[in-house]
Amino acid sequence: MENSVAEEPKTYSVLVVEDDPHTAELLTYNLSEAGFQVFNAEDGLSALHKLDIVVVDLIICDVMMPEMDGFALRDRINQDLVMREIPFIFLTAKSTAEDQILGLGMGVDEYVTKPFDPEVLLARVHAVLRRHEIYARVARLDPLTKLLNRQTLQREIERELARIKRYPAVATLVFLDIDEFKQVNDKYGHAAGDHALGHLASALTKDIRTVDIVGRYGGEEFILYFPETPEDIGRRIIERMHSTFQQLSESDGAGPLTFSAGLVEAPRDGEDFTTLCNRADAAMYRAKKQGKAQVLVWRPEMAPQSEAG
Ligand SMILES: [Mg+2]
Repeated sequence: MENSVAEEPKTYSVLVVEDDPHTAELLTYNLSEAGFQVFNAEDGLSALHKLDIVVVDLIICDVMMPEMDGFALRDRINQDLVMREIPFIFLTAKSTAEDQILGLGMGVDEYVTKPFDPEVLLARVHAVLRRHEIYARVARLDPLTKLLNRQTLQREIERELARIKRYPAVATLVFLDIDEFKQVNDKYGHAAGDHALGHLASALTKDIRTVDIVGRYGGEEFILYFPETPEDIGRRIIERMHSTFQQLSESDGAGPLTFSAGLVEAPRDGEDFTTLCNRADAAMYRAKKQGKAQVLVWRPEMAPQSEAG
Protein backbone atom coordinates (compact mmCIF):
# COMPACT_ATOMS: atom_id res chain seq x y z
CA MET A 1 0.00 0.00 0.00
CA GLU A 2 1.31 3.40 -0.85
CA ASN A 3 1.49 6.26 1.56
CA SER A 4 -2.19 7.02 1.08
CA VAL A 5 -1.53 10.29 -0.74
CA ALA A 6 -2.09 8.72 -4.17
CA GLU A 7 -5.28 6.90 -3.12
CA GLU A 8 -7.24 10.13 -2.64
CA PRO A 9 -9.52 11.36 -5.40
CA LYS A 10 -7.79 14.42 -6.59
CA THR A 11 -8.44 17.87 -7.95
CA TYR A 12 -5.73 18.71 -10.46
CA SER A 13 -4.28 22.16 -10.63
CA VAL A 14 -3.02 23.66 -13.86
CA LEU A 15 -0.95 26.72 -14.65
CA VAL A 16 -2.00 28.44 -17.88
CA VAL A 17 0.83 30.58 -19.27
CA GLU A 18 -0.70 32.73 -21.98
CA ASP A 19 -0.36 36.42 -22.89
CA ASP A 20 -3.47 36.65 -25.06
CA PRO A 21 -6.38 37.47 -22.72
CA HIS A 22 -9.00 35.87 -24.93
CA THR A 23 -7.19 32.52 -25.18
CA ALA A 24 -6.38 32.62 -21.45
CA GLU A 25 -10.02 33.19 -20.65
CA LEU A 26 -11.17 30.39 -22.96
CA LEU A 27 -8.69 27.95 -21.42
CA THR A 28 -9.53 28.98 -17.88
CA TYR A 29 -13.23 28.55 -18.57
CA ASN A 30 -12.89 25.09 -20.14
CA LEU A 31 -10.45 23.76 -17.56
CA SER A 32 -12.50 25.08 -14.63
CA GLU A 33 -15.63 23.49 -16.10
CA ALA A 34 -13.72 20.20 -16.25
CA GLY A 35 -12.91 20.48 -12.54
CA PHE A 36 -9.38 21.86 -12.66
CA GLN A 37 -8.06 24.50 -10.32
CA VAL A 38 -6.58 27.08 -12.70
CA PHE A 39 -3.73 29.51 -12.11
CA ASN A 40 -2.74 32.09 -14.70
CA ALA A 41 0.49 33.75 -15.77
CA GLU A 42 0.92 36.10 -18.72
CA ASP A 43 4.53 35.27 -19.57
CA GLY A 44 7.50 33.10 -18.59
CA LEU A 45 8.74 35.29 -15.77
CA SER A 46 5.39 35.55 -14.05
CA ALA A 47 5.01 31.77 -14.53
CA LEU A 48 8.28 31.17 -12.66
CA HIS A 49 7.09 33.48 -9.92
CA LYS A 50 3.80 31.58 -9.72
CA LEU A 51 5.56 28.20 -9.62
CA ASP A 52 7.52 29.49 -6.68
CA ILE A 53 4.36 29.86 -4.60
CA VAL A 54 1.95 27.19 -5.84
CA VAL A 55 2.32 23.50 -6.63
CA VAL A 56 0.69 22.54 -9.94
CA ASP A 57 0.06 19.21 -11.66
CA LEU A 58 0.27 20.50 -15.20
CA ILE A 59 1.49 23.49 -17.20
CA ILE A 60 -0.11 24.63 -20.48
CA CYS A 61 2.17 27.16 -22.10
CA ASP A 62 2.02 29.52 -25.05
CA VAL A 63 5.26 30.13 -26.97
CA MET A 64 5.06 33.72 -28.21
CA MET A 65 4.94 35.99 -25.16
CA PRO A 66 6.67 39.21 -24.04
CA GLU A 67 9.59 39.21 -21.57
CA MET A 68 10.25 35.47 -21.40
CA ASP A 69 8.71 33.32 -24.16
CA GLY A 70 7.57 29.71 -23.82
CA PHE A 71 10.79 28.14 -25.12
CA ALA A 72 12.86 30.23 -22.71
CA LEU A 73 10.54 29.26 -19.85
CA ARG A 74 10.90 25.58 -20.75
CA ASP A 75 14.70 26.04 -20.77
CA ARG A 76 14.58 27.40 -17.23
CA ILE A 77 12.24 24.65 -16.06
CA ASN A 78 14.59 22.01 -17.49
CA GLN A 79 17.28 23.22 -15.09
CA ASP A 80 15.09 22.57 -12.06
CA LEU A 81 14.87 18.98 -10.81
CA VAL A 82 11.42 19.40 -9.29
CA MET A 83 9.76 21.60 -11.93
CA ARG A 84 10.91 19.58 -14.93
CA GLU A 85 8.86 16.62 -13.69
CA ILE A 86 5.62 18.61 -14.01
CA PRO A 87 3.59 17.55 -17.09
CA PHE A 88 3.91 20.27 -19.75
CA ILE A 89 1.99 21.09 -22.92
CA PHE A 90 2.92 23.74 -25.47
CA LEU A 91 -0.13 25.44 -26.98
CA THR A 92 0.95 27.78 -29.72
CA ALA A 93 0.39 29.31 -33.15
CA LYS A 94 3.99 28.47 -34.02
CA SER A 95 3.08 25.49 -36.13
CA THR A 96 5.96 24.80 -38.53
CA ALA A 97 7.65 21.42 -38.41
CA GLU A 98 10.80 23.11 -37.06
CA ASP A 99 8.87 24.72 -34.21
CA GLN A 100 7.21 21.46 -33.24
CA ILE A 101 10.45 19.50 -33.37
CA LEU A 102 12.18 22.16 -31.29
CA GLY A 103 9.38 22.22 -28.70
CA LEU A 104 9.05 18.44 -28.37
CA GLY A 105 12.84 18.20 -28.16
CA MET A 106 12.68 20.20 -24.94
CA GLY A 107 11.19 17.25 -23.08
CA VAL A 108 7.56 18.37 -23.06
CA ASP A 109 4.60 16.00 -23.25
CA GLU A 110 2.53 17.52 -26.05
CA TYR A 111 2.80 20.23 -28.68
CA VAL A 112 -0.65 21.50 -29.65
CA THR A 113 -1.08 24.10 -32.37
CA LYS A 114 -3.59 26.96 -32.49
CA PRO A 115 -6.35 27.23 -33.43
CA PHE A 116 -7.30 24.39 -31.12
CA ASP A 117 -10.46 22.51 -30.20
CA PRO A 118 -10.99 22.85 -26.42
CA GLU A 119 -12.49 19.35 -26.19
CA VAL A 120 -9.50 17.77 -27.92
CA LEU A 121 -7.10 19.76 -25.76
CA LEU A 122 -8.90 18.49 -22.66
CA ALA A 123 -8.61 14.92 -23.92
CA ARG A 124 -4.87 15.45 -24.41
CA VAL A 125 -4.58 16.92 -20.90
CA HIS A 126 -6.18 13.81 -19.43
CA ALA A 127 -3.99 11.52 -21.53
CA VAL A 128 -0.86 13.33 -20.36
CA LEU A 129 -1.92 13.15 -16.72
CA ARG A 130 -2.70 9.43 -17.02
CA ARG A 131 0.73 8.69 -18.48
CA HIS A 132 2.43 10.67 -15.74
CA GLU A 133 0.49 8.96 -12.98
CA ILE A 134 1.67 5.55 -14.13
CA TYR A 135 5.30 6.47 -14.69
CA ALA A 136 5.51 8.74 -11.68
CA ARG A 137 3.99 6.16 -9.35
CA VAL A 138 6.60 3.55 -10.19
CA ALA A 139 9.48 6.01 -10.09
CA ARG A 140 8.42 7.48 -6.74
CA LEU A 141 8.23 4.33 -4.65
CA ASP A 142 10.64 2.07 -2.86
CA PRO A 143 9.95 -1.33 -4.46
CA LEU A 144 10.05 -3.35 -1.21
CA THR A 145 8.01 -1.22 1.21
CA LYS A 146 5.96 0.76 -1.34
CA LEU A 147 6.76 3.86 0.69
CA LEU A 148 8.31 6.88 -1.00
CA ASN A 149 11.89 6.29 -2.08
CA ARG A 150 14.77 8.44 -0.87
CA GLN A 151 14.76 10.93 -3.76
CA THR A 152 11.02 11.50 -3.65
CA LEU A 153 11.05 11.75 0.12
CA GLN A 154 13.66 14.48 0.03
CA ARG A 155 11.93 16.32 -2.81
CA GLU A 156 8.53 16.30 -1.09
CA ILE A 157 9.93 17.40 2.27
CA GLU A 158 11.95 20.18 0.64
CA ARG A 159 8.80 21.37 -1.06
CA GLU A 160 7.00 21.46 2.30
CA LEU A 161 9.90 23.27 3.98
CA ALA A 162 9.85 25.88 1.23
CA ARG A 163 6.14 26.32 1.84
CA ILE A 164 6.48 26.93 5.59
CA LYS A 165 9.10 29.57 4.90
CA ARG A 166 6.43 31.55 3.09
CA TYR A 167 3.48 30.61 5.25
CA PRO A 168 4.89 30.03 8.74
CA ALA A 169 3.79 26.79 10.40
CA VAL A 170 5.36 24.09 12.55
CA ALA A 171 6.12 20.58 11.36
CA THR A 172 7.73 17.49 12.83
CA LEU A 173 10.41 15.43 11.10
CA VAL A 174 11.35 11.99 12.43
CA PHE A 175 14.34 9.80 11.63
CA LEU A 176 13.95 6.20 12.71
CA ASP A 177 15.89 2.98 12.49
CA ILE A 178 14.92 -0.61 13.37
CA ASP A 179 16.83 -1.90 16.41
CA GLU A 180 19.04 -4.99 15.99
CA PHE A 181 18.03 -5.29 12.34
CA LYS A 182 21.31 -6.93 11.38
CA GLN A 183 20.62 -9.70 13.91
CA VAL A 184 17.20 -10.34 12.37
CA ASN A 185 18.84 -10.86 8.99
CA ASP A 186 21.71 -12.94 10.40
CA LYS A 187 19.57 -15.11 12.64
CA TYR A 188 16.37 -15.56 10.64
CA GLY A 189 17.45 -14.81 7.07
CA HIS A 190 16.82 -11.97 4.66
CA ALA A 191 13.19 -12.94 4.07
CA ALA A 192 12.55 -12.27 7.77
CA GLY A 193 14.32 -8.93 7.38
CA ASP A 194 12.06 -8.07 4.44
CA HIS A 195 9.01 -9.06 6.48
CA ALA A 196 10.14 -6.78 9.30
CA LEU A 197 10.46 -3.89 6.84
CA GLY A 198 6.96 -4.65 5.59
CA HIS A 199 5.56 -4.63 9.13
CA LEU A 200 7.24 -1.32 9.81
CA ALA A 201 5.82 0.15 6.59
CA SER A 202 2.34 -0.95 7.71
CA ALA A 203 2.83 0.54 11.17
CA LEU A 204 4.06 3.84 9.75
CA THR A 205 1.13 4.23 7.37
CA LYS A 206 -1.68 2.87 9.52
CA ASP A 207 -3.22 6.09 10.81
CA ILE A 208 -1.49 8.84 8.88
CA ARG A 209 -3.17 11.76 7.17
CA THR A 210 -2.93 12.23 3.42
CA VAL A 211 -0.66 15.26 3.96
CA ASP A 212 1.92 13.26 5.91
CA ILE A 213 5.08 12.12 4.15
CA VAL A 214 6.58 8.69 4.86
CA GLY A 215 9.54 7.16 3.08
CA ARG A 216 12.43 4.76 3.22
CA TYR A 217 15.68 6.66 3.50
CA GLY A 218 17.82 3.56 2.99
CA GLY A 219 18.41 0.11 4.55
CA GLU A 220 16.33 0.02 7.74
CA GLU A 221 16.15 3.82 8.06
CA PHE A 222 12.91 5.73 7.53
CA ILE A 223 11.91 9.37 7.58
CA LEU A 224 8.50 10.81 8.38
CA TYR A 225 7.31 14.38 8.03
CA PHE A 226 4.12 15.63 9.65
CA PRO A 227 2.95 19.08 8.50
CA GLU A 228 1.16 21.33 11.02
CA THR A 229 2.36 19.14 13.86
CA PRO A 230 4.27 20.33 16.94
CA GLU A 231 6.87 18.17 18.67
CA ASP A 232 4.65 16.74 21.44
CA ILE A 233 1.96 15.53 19.05
CA GLY A 234 4.56 14.15 16.64
CA ARG A 235 6.08 12.23 19.51
CA ARG A 236 2.76 10.66 20.46
CA ILE A 237 2.15 9.59 16.87
CA ILE A 238 5.55 7.89 16.68
CA GLU A 239 5.05 6.15 20.01
CA ARG A 240 1.75 4.78 18.77
CA MET A 241 3.45 3.57 15.57
CA HIS A 242 6.10 1.94 17.72
CA SER A 243 3.61 -0.20 19.61
CA THR A 244 1.86 -1.12 16.35
CA PHE A 245 5.24 -2.21 14.94
CA GLN A 246 5.94 -4.34 18.02
CA GLN A 247 2.55 -6.03 17.73
CA LEU A 248 2.85 -6.68 13.99
CA SER A 249 6.40 -8.02 14.19
CA GLU A 250 5.62 -10.21 17.18
CA SER A 251 3.45 -12.46 15.02
CA ASP A 252 6.50 -13.40 12.95
CA GLY A 253 8.79 -15.29 15.28
CA ALA A 254 11.63 -12.80 14.85
CA GLY A 255 9.80 -10.20 16.93
CA PRO A 256 8.71 -8.27 18.78
CA LEU A 257 10.98 -5.77 17.10
CA THR A 258 11.53 -2.18 18.15
CA PHE A 259 12.90 0.99 16.62
CA SER A 260 14.74 4.04 17.87
CA ALA A 261 13.67 7.45 16.67
CA GLY A 262 14.94 11.02 16.74
CA LEU A 263 12.55 13.90 16.31
CA VAL A 264 12.96 17.55 15.33
CA GLU A 265 10.48 20.37 15.00
CA ALA A 266 10.74 22.71 12.00
CA PRO A 267 11.54 25.55 11.74
CA ARG A 268 12.70 25.67 15.38
CA ASP A 269 15.39 23.01 14.97
CA GLY A 270 16.34 23.81 11.38
CA GLU A 271 14.93 25.13 8.14
CA ASP A 272 16.49 22.87 5.53
CA PHE A 273 16.30 19.15 4.86
CA THR A 274 19.96 18.38 5.61
CA THR A 275 20.08 20.21 8.96
CA LEU A 276 16.81 18.67 10.12
CA CYS A 277 17.86 15.15 9.07
CA ASN A 278 21.29 15.43 10.70
CA ARG A 279 19.74 16.60 13.96
CA ALA A 280 16.98 14.01 13.95
CA ASP A 281 19.67 11.43 13.18
CA ALA A 282 21.75 12.68 16.14
CA ALA A 283 18.72 12.33 18.44
CA MET A 284 18.09 8.84 17.03
CA TYR A 285 21.70 7.91 17.71
CA ARG A 286 21.32 9.11 21.30
CA ALA A 287 18.16 7.00 21.64
CA LYS A 288 20.17 3.96 20.51
CA LYS A 289 22.91 4.70 23.05
CA GLN A 290 20.36 5.08 25.84
CA GLY A 291 19.00 1.57 25.36
CA LYS A 292 17.01 1.69 22.08
CA ALA A 293 13.22 1.27 21.67
CA GLN A 294 12.56 4.93 22.37
CA VAL A 295 11.86 8.32 20.82
CA LEU A 296 14.06 11.31 21.67
CA VAL A 297 13.57 14.93 20.70
CA TRP A 298 16.75 16.65 19.47
CA ARG A 299 18.42 19.08 21.87
CA PRO A 300 21.30 21.43 20.93
CA GLU A 301 23.66 19.64 23.35
CA MET A 302 23.34 16.44 21.29
CA ALA A 303 26.42 16.26 19.11
CA PRO A 304 25.95 15.36 15.47
CA GLN A 305 26.41 11.64 14.95
CA SER A 306 29.74 12.13 13.20
CA GLU A 307 31.16 13.85 16.30
CA ALA A 308 29.59 11.33 18.69
CA GLY A 309 31.46 8.58 16.85
MG1 LIG B 1 1.20 34.59 -27.28
